[in-house]
Amino acid sequence: MIFAAPFRYPQTALVRRHGPQGYSKYSHHRPWLRDEFDFRCVYCLKREQWCFQLNDYQLDHLVPQSIAPALCREYTNLVYACSNCNHRKGAKRLPTPEDLAYGACMEVLMTGANIGEIVAHNDDGIRLIDELGLDQKKITGMRKLFILSIRSHQKHDRRLFLTWMGLPDDLPDLANVRPQPERNMRIEGIVESWFCRKPRPEFYE
Ligand SMILES: [Zn+2]
Repeated sequence: MIFAAPFRYPQTALVRRHGPQGYSKYSHHRPWLRDEFDFRCVYCLKREQWCFQLNDYQLDHLVPQSIAPALCREYTNLVYACSNCNHRKGAKRLPTPEDLAYGACMEVLMTGANIGEIVAHNDDGIRLIDELGLDQKKITGMRKLFILSIRSHQKHDRRLFLTWMGLPDDLPDLANVRPQPERNMRIEGIVESWFCRKPRPEFYE
């Protein structure tokens, strides 16, 4: 059996599929960012499906508001992050997922005695892990627990496996979100949204 990999960082740099513009509040970008970042934290890969509340997820400013207030409502300056990572990052500037493939910088070990540990592949990885605390004992332990649990479900209980690794039930219908952005620079991205994709995969990595 080939086990699903719940903590595989992207091997390519992010190319955004959405481009909403003109919102009066940056929080209005939330449905777009949920879809853009596949309903998980861009930094630690924790999924909405693994959390109790949606407000566990925040909209992180890549260039902090304190440094560039003009970019506060700019879609390309926003990423989807869990509250823990967003808090850890604070007002720091880190390598962005558009600058480089996070998968080239760091990797979560999925096998062996050190399963769940995160290792850096370059200086950017060292910085990301250090600044975000991705190698903290508690986080490493939770990753190990998730990997082993999901693996067990995949083997023994497909329904539970799909609950952990599948898409959330409330996929945003971006063609009809309210309020609508004044402009959408990547209107073609809507057909690539998870809501519009047919067929949808049972689970995703
Ligand atoms: Zn996170």
